[in-house]
Amino acid sequence: MLEIKNLHAEIDGKPIIQGLSLTVKDGEVAAIMGPNGSGKSTLSYILAGKEDYEVTEGEILLDGENILEIPVEERAARGVFLAFQYPLEIPGVATMTFLKAALNAQRKARGEAELSTPDFIKRVNSASDELKISKEMLRRAFNVGFSGGEKKRMEILQMALLQPSLAVLDETDSGLDIDALRIVADGVNALRSPKRSFIVITHYQRLLNHIVPDSVHVLSKGRIVKSGGKELALELEANGYRDYEEAA
Ligand code: ADP
Ligand code: MG
Ligand code: MG
Repeated sequence: MLEIKNLHAEIDGKPIIQGLSLTVKDGEVAAIMGPNGSGKSTLSYILAGKEDYEVTEGEILLDGENILEIPVEERAARGVFLAFQYPLEIPGVATMTFLKAALNAQRKARGEAELSTPDFIKRVNSASDELKISKEMLRRAFNVGFSGGEKKRMEILQMALLQPSLAVLDETDSGLDIDALRIVADGVNALRSPKRSFIVITHYQRLLNHIVPDSVHVLSKGRIVKSGGKELALELEANGYRDYEEAA
């Protein structure tokens, strides 16, 4: 379970997150929606531990442990997975090599033995077959020259391999075409599990036609100003965010 309690954070002394509280239960898919500039991406960067953001108050508990106190490089090992609008490209590192390193770093941090190469290949092959990722793609440099849809498949493949307890997807403004949107939605839906929580961040309602969320939260000016069920997303689509911007 994820509990964000009265979170305040700033960038260069400018307050961005201003008293954000949110609980996401095990197995829950929570959607966060909100106008541009409301702090959605900032929230995902803080969960990732990006340096520019200073948390001045509050805590983020994952199964009771404050993840703000967990070193950034250990968060993935502790079950936090973050997917970004603009995925990292790593020239010179084959995708297969990158994935193996990511998986083994997680295992190491958990005190588990490294996967043998045959075991690793078996896992990657079965996950990538399901996602229609070719062997050729796995040999190419990680994300370099991948199309938008291929990057999305790669993101879902990483999630499938790392089996996170919390997955955060910031899809805002990414202009996902319908194929990429399906890839993300099918991937998330396939990985929904009673032990896994998702935060799906989106500016537009259409992603939520494919990933039906358990809860919807409106972020405005750095705090959650309204929470509801999936119907809240439809209401926002019809009426826009104006009411909530004024309420903040
Ligand atoms: P959203 O994802 O909801 O569109 P962001 O989290 O990207 O919003 O941005 C929230 C606010 O923080 C905006 O007002 C934005 O201008 C500001 N902001 C984001 N990053 C920086 C930065 N590096 N320096 C200064 N202000 C920033
Ligand atoms: Mg934005
Ligand atoms: Mg954003």
